[in-house]
Amino acid sequence: MLTGISVAFMGGDARQLEVIQRFTELDATVFLFGFNNLGRQLSGVTNSEPSAELLKQIDAFILPPVGTDDTGRVESIFSHNELVLTDEIIGALPSHAKVYTGMAKTYLKRLCQEHNISVIELFDRDDVAIYNSIPTAEGALMMAIQNTDITIHGSVCMVLGFGRTGFTMARTLQGLGASVKVGVKQPDHFARAWEMGFQPFYTTDLYTEVANIDLLFNTIPTMIITAQVITNIPHRAVIIDLASKPGGTDFRFAEKRGIKAMLAPGLPGIVAPKTAGRIIANALSQLLEEDFKDRSDAE
Ligand code: NAP
Repeated sequence: MLTGISVAFMGGDARQLEVIQRFTELDATVFLFGFNNLGRQLSGVTNSEPSAELLKQIDAFILPPVGTDDTGRVESIFSHNELVLTDEIIGALPSHAKVYTGMAKTYLKRLCQEHNISVIELFDRDDVAIYNSIPTAEGALMMAIQNTDITIHGSVCMVLGFGRTGFTMARTLQGLGASVKVGVKQPDHFARAWEMGFQPFYTTDLYTEVANIDLLFNTIPTMIITAQVITNIPHRAVIIDLASKPGGTDFRFAEKRGIKAMLAPGLPGIVAPKTAGRIIANALSQLLEEDFKDRSDAE
């Protein structure tokens, strides 16, 4: 339970509603900043302005999955006006307070560092990344189906990277009957991919390996599908780049060659906001229960 813990939310999308609901169920004291376009009143929460008076009571300050942009702007579908995380807001938090987000850009890290406030990045956690890989793989499949005129079953798919997202992606494609090639860097990943019935190869051989593919799913967040590699990809192939912006594809050259290539960021929030919200709610509630155990025990 989170009895006695004060939690403030600023910004977000449909995922954040799942988190807010979970926190009220766990008996946290919940404040919402800038939720003036919600269209309904959530029970058990207080809509407020981030005044210094209120901020000094806050234990946990919760930002959306992408905390802020590089200028401090906080994305929100619930606010009429622009939300900005200012120096005054972070500066007014008590020293024990923590800021939680999916991933923190330099602006947020610097702001918190200047005020000695910890910032916790949820998407760094293996468990969250693995759970998130499920809606990500489903979203990538949706895009593959929408952008091809063949079935996944019987197609030749390539997955680049065998980490938390690549692993789930490869297994999902295999489950649908695709022949799955997996591009890896490490011998242990090669062995595991082989054991699981994929066709592993080292990404140093990417140029030759792409010659017969129908679909390419990239999870490597560095330029890997270069112009040179693209020259050997068949015209029928579709590239779905899942890696964080700017992706790992030379999109300009793909377009020039007439190969369909798309960057597909933020799929969990797009295809399954409820599930994605629950993933965040589970991880956050567990974290807060650990981080503020002493305070809630004292209540
Ligand atoms: P991860 O677990 O770190 O996986 C990345 C994998 O790529 C690692 O196994 C890494 O191997 C491998 N890799 C890196 N460079 C390589 C190379 N040159 N050749 C072969 N393999 C290489 O990360 P993740 O959680 O799967 O996330 C992958 C990307 O997807 C990130 O950019 C993440 O932000 C993004 N993502 C996007 C969505 C979406 O909706 N589009 C959703 C979730 C995640 P080593 O560990 O050996 O370096």
